[in-house]
Amino acid sequence: MDRAPTHISTVTPRPRAGYNALAARLRREIEGEVLFDAASRGRYSTDASIYQIEPVGVVVPRTEEDARIAIQIAADQGVPILPRGGGTSQCGQTVGAALVIDNSKYLNQVVAFDKDARTAVVQPGMVLDGLNAYLRPHGLWFPVDVSTSAQATLGGMAGNNSCGSRSIRYGNMVHNVLGIDALLADGSEFHFGASDLIAGAPRAYLALIERVHAIVRREAAEIEARWPKVLRRVQGYNIDMVQPGAEGAMLAHNLAHLLVGSEGTLAYSRRIHLALAPLPQHKTLGVCHFPTFHQSMQAPQHIAKLGPTAVELVDRTMIELARGNAAFKPTVERFLRGDPDAVLLVEFSGDDRGEQLAKLRQLVELMADLGFPDGVVEITDSGLQKEVWEVRKAGLNIMMSMKGEGKPVSFIEDCAVPLEHLAEYTDKLTQVFARHGTRGTWYAHASVGTLHVRPVLNMKEGGARQMRAIAEEACELVKRYKGAAYSGEHGDGLARSEWIEPIIGARLMRALEEIKDLFDPRGLMNPGKIVRGSKQDDRSLFRYKPGYAAQQLHTALDWSEWNASDMADAGGTAGTGSSRGFIAAVEMCNNNGHCRKFDAGTMCPSYRATGNERDLTRGRANTLRLALSGQLGADAFTSDAMHEAMDLCVSCKGCKRECPTGVDMAKMKIEFLHHYHKRHGLSLKDRLIAYLPRYAPWAARFPWLTNLRDAVPGLAQLSESLLGLSARRSLPKWRRDAFHLDPVTAPRSAEPAREVVLLVDTFNNYFEPDNARAAVAVLEAAGYSVHLARAEEGGRPLCCGRTFLARGLVDEARTEARRTIAALQHYVERGLPIIGLEPSCLYTLRDEFKSMLPGAGAEALAARAVLFEEFFAAEHQAGRLKLKLQALPQKKALLHGHCHQKAFGAMSSVEQVLGLVPGLKVETVESSCCGMAGAFGYEASHYEVSMNMAETSLLPAMRKAGADTLLVADGTSCRHQIHDGLRKGDAPAAAAREAVHVAQVLARALAVPAGR
Ligand SMILES: Cc1cc2nc3c(=O)[nH]c(=O)nc-3n(C[C@H](O)[C@H](O)[C@H](O)COP(=O)(O)OP(=O)(O)OC[C@H]3O[C@@H](n4cnc5c(N)ncnc54)[C@H](O)[C@@H]3O)c2cc1C
Ligand code: SF4
Ligand code: SF4
Repeated sequence: MDRAPTHISTVTPRPRAGYNALAARLRREIEGEVLFDAASRGRYSTDASIYQIEPVGVVVPRTEEDARIAIQIAADQGVPILPRGGGTSQCGQTVGAALVIDNSKYLNQVVAFDKDARTAVVQPGMVLDGLNAYLRPHGLWFPVDVSTSAQATLGGMAGNNSCGSRSIRYGNMVHNVLGIDALLADGSEFHFGASDLIAGAPRAYLALIERVHAIVRREAAEIEARWPKVLRRVQGYNIDMVQPGAEGAMLAHNLAHLLVGSEGTLAYSRRIHLALAPLPQHKTLGVCHFPTFHQSMQAPQHIAKLGPTAVELVDRTMIELARGNAAFKPTVERFLRGDPDAVLLVEFSGDDRGEQLAKLRQLVELMADLGFPDGVVEITDSGLQKEVWEVRKAGLNIMMSMKGEGKPVSFIEDCAVPLEHLAEYTDKLTQVFARHGTRGTWYAHASVGTLHVRPVLNMKEGGARQMRAIAEEACELVKRYKGAAYSGEHGDGLARSEWIEPIIGARLMRALEEIKDLFDPRGLMNPGKIVRGSKQDDRSLFRYKPGYAAQQLHTALDWSEWNASDMADAGGTAGTGSSRGFIAAVEMCNNNGHCRKFDAGTMCPSYRATGNERDLTRGRANTLRLALSGQLGADAFTSDAMHEAMDLCVSCKGCKRECPTGVDMAKMKIEFLHHYHKRHGLSLKDRLIAYLPRYAPWAARFPWLTNLRDAVPGLAQLSESLLGLSARRSLPKWRRDAFHLDPVTAPRSAEPAREVVLLVDTFNNYFEPDNARAAVAVLEAAGYSVHLARAEEGGRPLCCGRTFLARGLVDEARTEARRTIAALQHYVERGLPIIGLEPSCLYTLRDEFKSMLPGAGAEALAARAVLFEEFFAAEHQAGRLKLKLQALPQKKALLHGHCHQKAFGAMSSVEQVLGLVPGLKVETVESSCCGMAGAFGYEASHYEVSMNMAETSLLPAMRKAGADTLLVADGTSCRHQIHDGLRKGDAPAAAAREAVHVAQVLARALAVPAGR
């Protein structure tokens, strides 16, 4: 093959000290953030690819002017520039030894919107879902619906020429971008747009265009002969879309199309002008079932003739992984029939419902003609359609949840072939994988011949060699199908730039280099991508470079489930874990950025409050990985930089449930704090918080003393300066009538099957004993005989150890866990349910106990431990519940879910149980963490972030609630946050209101109050 010599960059990196002047000048001249420390650089050195290159530094511009100045300064100093959005690129286009410009935090606004013309102008950091939420009330949307719609920025989408599931109807980014206001590295600034806008354009712009024009005119025949013809051709620069007129004639094309897909290598997009589309009024969905994968690949060419908006593949592996995922299983069970090898999701959409239903019928007939009568599950309900699409959108992430060193790797994952070759192509590539000792999972855009596939490789050992061998064979295969493209969606980056030339030929490759040099003669814009790329398998650019090794650590928790070779150790002595499982759990983060959610679910509240990469699950996982593998210097794991990255994690467990690869940062934070405090010791504040369950019995005896802090002026300030507890917070009030002081009555005798155990936590015991009393009253009214979980005679009350875990005091927490397991063992052996009221405490029994004391005792207790609402919901569903309730004066309940209720899927239980009250309408606030998170919000250093979290959606919703609405929250700290937050606001009616536990709601509604 005749190829030009490759090199990554024309710019030579300099020693780090050489960048100090750059950082200093940036800090002087821009308002935004300038991040040059090692941990920040580390966090920006990866994207969702296998690569890792440390950037020179990071700028987070506050204004467009900031971005302009930063680019100018970098160019002055000859430093490469790398624009960045969500950093979700899969091919390494967002990593490089450059000054990273992160647009996502501040440059994320709609700048102009014209409803009638159906156009919008946005800043580059605007996220697609944010834009579509803005457009929805106007009946419009931006229809390039990428799977990463909640993270992908319009700047990044334009950079990658992104394509959505519905591209067969709406096209790719390049078909939907009207213009780009761009900055070039030489400081010039132009509007790239339609040809009719260039009249009066600056001379330099016209000259640039004319030179592009000349290249394209010269290469017209070669483009016609060599350029891929499929819709999904996103490799190289879009020179095929530049239609040259006769020499000297007015150009009849849109030059913004050259910037789209240029991966930041030509210019920085300051503003992007978009064409919008009307939201379709109606949609229908047919789930076509196929007994074999091959048959599913033969069908798209026929289905495409029905004019669907989308035809998406989900194969057996994906189906099975989705079935094993707690969040997706219920949906999968609803749309799947039998045991297909693959399904195609076929969507029709438009304004005429009758027409969409007719199309669905045609699909059923077509499938019957193809030999699959009854092969279609028809879905007309829009709610279920949405759920099915959520499963499909999560496809790649579900696939990446594979544990172990072998991971599905992205490098040939989106070749695009004409539909008539799809079945043959997938067969042949599957054979290639088998020849190289691996396998792949197929999914995605069958409608346009772009199927995603990732062979499973171990990139730490041998993966690079297999990768090259597979890539070479795949390239030959793609070339065989005329018009096919090697990159049909995810771009070129570091993974595929070297594979552009084999497809388009050396001559056109040189033309692309000429284009690059016209725009960026000094090679400063994102060097090494598209043209003059590095070798795909250059291990020095990998995340796992040769010699990558993690530090050995004696872990406090059991991490064996993450590492097959640790499994044998599981069940052994607590606190003697090896670090293999821990680092494997950390490495599960593949940087896909799903945690950059902003409007749905829980993950990740600290990022939602600050917008910082550091405060994101991904940022934390990356910092941990870099620290544990010695890339942030000696002792980095217990350094202050590591502490900063973990500090705002509220341990909500949102990531445990919502991160597609199951990164459990709350558990990692416990492990980290354990080691951190071992090295640095504990502050007085840490001790006060951690040991609360130990001194609670004493503190509750003297409430006149222990509650003084909020009664005597000045003491709150003193507690802030001495202890770091925020003076702007009230503290929970100690109650002299703690629940455990109630006389122990014998459980009312009933049939043995109706005995239950109530485990009252420290908070409900000493601060809100009325909740525990309400729970007993309700249980007894429903006919259950209640045992109160108590320690042995004279022992202190039982405790789950949560406050110790929150400070990393695993040994103390383990002591509590051991006591609790022992005290409850006889109930557990009898099969009695252990009922808890406080979600964070009860779920410690189900979760952390198993990590602290792996073995049969913890497993058995975990299997019996349930929340009050879970118990009642299960009893109700089983038809066993005999609870007589009457209507309350309030007709509505506004419910806020504790993060752990959400993480463990208990929200439907609490909704069901509240729904038992006659006439009570239940509405759940779409809220993430309340911001209080145990002791987090009480700390002065967290106060602002804590209130920001609460103000995102929880407090505004609670303030709006009318007088006829009950406020319900089962978490003690959530109730406290609502208490504090409502007093802060300017809604006097709301200020007098308190949120209550669900047990209180049921107790108030008891038709015949219990006698206890
Ligand atoms: C799980 C998963 C699913 C995916 N699904 C899809 C899919 O369905 N369809 C699809 O097309 N892609 C998909 N992708 C790839 C990726 O999400 C998209 O390409 C996305 O549009 C990138 O957006 P971003 O904001 O993360 O961009 P980034 O990754 O931050 O940047 C992308 C490129 O654009 C450049 N860039 C960013 N901002 C600017 C700017 N202001 N000026 C100039 N250049 C800029 C960057 O330098 C980079 O080269 C997926 C990725 C993952 C991890
Ligand atoms: S933490 Fe999870 S959701 Fe976030 S980037 Fe990593 S893998 Fe993705
Ligand atoms: S536990 Fe919560 S706050 Fe911490 S990283 Fe996970 S989602 Fe974010």
